[in-house]
Amino acid sequence: MIILKSPEEVGKIERAGRIVAEVLQELKAQVKPGVTTLDLDRIAEEGIRKRGGLPAFKGYRGFPATLCASVNNEIVHGIPSKRTLQEGDIIGLDLGAIVDGYYGDAAITVAVGAIRPEVQHLVRVTEESLYRGIEQMKAGNRLSDVSHAVQTHVEAAGYSVVKDFVGHGIGQSLHEEPQLPNFGKPGQGPRLRAGMVLAIEPMVNMGKDGVRVLGDHWTAVTEDGSLSAHFEHTVAVTEAGPVILTSNNGRA
Ligand code: MG
Repeated sequence: MIILKSPEEVGKIERAGRIVAEVLQELKAQVKPGVTTLDLDRIAEEGIRKRGGLPAFKGYRGFPATLCASVNNEIVHGIPSKRTLQEGDIIGLDLGAIVDGYYGDAAITVAVGAIRPEVQHLVRVTEESLYRGIEQMKAGNRLSDVSHAVQTHVEAAGYSVVKDFVGHGIGQSLHEEPQLPNFGKPGQGPRLRAGMVLAIEPMVNMGKDGVRVLGDHWTAVTEDGSLSAHFEHTVAVTEAGPVILTSNNGRA
């Protein structure tokens, strides 16, 4: 069942989302060679708590940290560690916060120092595909119109969308119905309605779409070792169109 949110509830998700957006910008500023992913996790937890939120991921199904930090060929769900970031790496930062019982969830992929042009392109296409999907989050469209827009943009660039992980409804739980794949034919699935709140999160591999989960039972990596990028926003469907709830001062 898809739970529709009142404007007041959307406002609570937006408060959580604002914290996520602000902390992601703080983290982005700290990403540089020599920093460990555990350093970033500490900044993330402090940043959420000092703004009055709670970390959404810590303890979720046993996840041990506030931040999912996924480096290079890691797609999602990387566990923060003493791993030191190197010049030329990319890192996916996925963060969730809870305010007043409501969740916000967003992710960005950030360059560590200078990265190769082809890697910049992967990151840019992944972020663009997020916005192609968001553009389709209009009342009256079907859910898979969103999925299709993401997939089309990614595949036109020669990359693959990950099929094993999907976006999701969000509200008083981190993961609600419906699931929101980043692939599919248009015109399928439930019709989008005002009051739906969805986390859309394209995960894009430079190579093939295969996924392997490491022995820590969390870290998902590309099967072929290729690089992977990830961007995510929490978005409300409204009569006036999609509204990004994890934006920073109205900026995406
Ligand atoms: Mg998510």
